[in-house]
Amino acid sequence: MISVSKNPGPSAWNDLLPEREPLPSLSSTLTSDWLIVGAGFAGLSAARRVQQEAPNDSIVILDAQGLASGPAGRNSGFMIDLPHDLASDDYGGQIENDREAITQNRYAINFAKETVEALQLPKECFKEIGKINGAATAKGMRHNHDYGKHLSKLGEKYEYLDANSMKDITGTNYYDGGLFTPGTVMIQPALYIRSLGEKILSNRVRLYESSPVEELNKVGSDWQAKTPKGVITASKVILAVNGNIENFGYFKNSLLHVYTYGSITQKLTPEEIKSLGGRKEWGLTPADPLGSTVRRICGTGGDRIVIRNRFTYEPKMSPRKSVIEKVYRTHIKSFSDRFPMLKDIKLMQTWGGHLTLSRNNVAAFGEIKPGLFAACCQNGLGTVKGTLHGLAAADLAMGKKTALVEQLLNNPKPKKLPFKPLTKIAVSSRIKLGELLAGKEL
Ligand SMILES: Cc1cc2nc3c(=O)[nH]c(=O)nc-3n(C[C@H](O)[C@H](O)[C@H](O)COP(=O)(O)OP(=O)(O)OC[C@H]3O[C@@H](n4cnc5c(N)ncnc54)[C@H](O)[C@@H]3O)c2cc1C
Repeated sequence: MISVSKNPGPSAWNDLLPEREPLPSLSSTLTSDWLIVGAGFAGLSAARRVQQEAPNDSIVILDAQGLASGPAGRNSGFMIDLPHDLASDDYGGQIENDREAITQNRYAINFAKETVEALQLPKECFKEIGKINGAATAKGMRHNHDYGKHLSKLGEKYEYLDANSMKDITGTNYYDGGLFTPGTVMIQPALYIRSLGEKILSNRVRLYESSPVEELNKVGSDWQAKTPKGVITASKVILAVNGNIENFGYFKNSLLHVYTYGSITQKLTPEEIKSLGGRKEWGLTPADPLGSTVRRICGTGGDRIVIRNRFTYEPKMSPRKSVIEKVYRTHIKSFSDRFPMLKDIKLMQTWGGHLTLSRNNVAAFGEIKPGLFAACCQNGLGTVKGTLHGLAAADLAMGKKTALVEQLLNNPKPKKLPFKPLTKIAVSSRIKLGELLAGKEL
């Protein structure tokens, strides 16, 4: 039976939103032109692309959980247009690769923007406000300067911010400087996924929540998926299940299952907002990729701060409870160091989510068996790469050999991992050392 990765803690972005009536789970035997497994960024983008390009085709989307309960609704909501290689020192890579990545990322962001407009998703879920790389150490400042030089070579716009400007924006004097780039879109991830999953529905597009695919088999020229109470047969299937693709038997021993963790404060009172100061909304990624991402948000659910840090390697896709407890303590420290003026504020919820990386920073993408397509392994930037791989997998499956599809097919496959105990030692110690060296950036 195919298992599904565990995501510990509440889906806190979802909890900020009004309760909704869940969509039904699959409880019958159906046939459809398309089956899309996974209703995250990849699955919903694939469905949207097919809906646009093959409007007469029927599409069924299945997700094991409720909409936005999985990683797609648990992330920090940075849709980043620029290179974001988590394994590098400063997110940058080789110039030619980065140019291609920027073009692809912007294509995906634009697709998301057009979808938001066309389906009239709430404006609150998609804000084009850019982001800052915050530096709290001399090393962080050097990373930012290296990244700035790299962006100059790429011809990209950016602005250095000094400590005063950082305080004016964030309210805290924790940061020595920052690097602002305008192209990042800040999303409310649960609102984006929930509203996209609901607005995409039509008489041709159906979505079933709480419907884990437990078996997927080839039957004649079709594919047949079984859920606990239903069966669906389709000629084309897109697996948009991120690291769970390994549980379907594909890309085995090639994907790194890493978890990262977020916490959100209780709602700030008007007095707390005043003592914090700064702008009402901003997003900050750490100058050191292993540091803390911090966001100030407002809107449905009130004014709050969201913090994300720590990575753990979880090859079994199920972190132990004690991990969350440890992470929570780190979050409290990272939060109180940055915001001493908010000493009475509690981190209301802490959660974790599964992300999937490959050693060579490429996706698990393509036609893996006749009629079976993969749009998985987003290397930590799944809001953008998930969108990109989802729409491109749909194009590939519809027989459209676009330039993007060609580029993705030309990429190498995710590199095989060394034998398991070695991978565990190598990845866990790389994370531990990186977090230690991140110092105040954590
Ligand atoms: C705390 C945190 C912060 C993050 N911050 C950011 C950020 O700021 N920016 C960014 O770009 N990325 C961020 N990420 C990563 C991002 O969330 C993921 O990369 C992204 O969600 C991947 O999208 P996806 O659609 O490929 O997969 P997922 O979002 O993982 O969706 C896959 C779906 O498949 C379903 N599924 C799996 N198996 C089955 C099955 N057998 N049957 C049916 N359904 C199944 C799952 O339930 C899930 O809903 C963050 C992640 C976390 C955890």
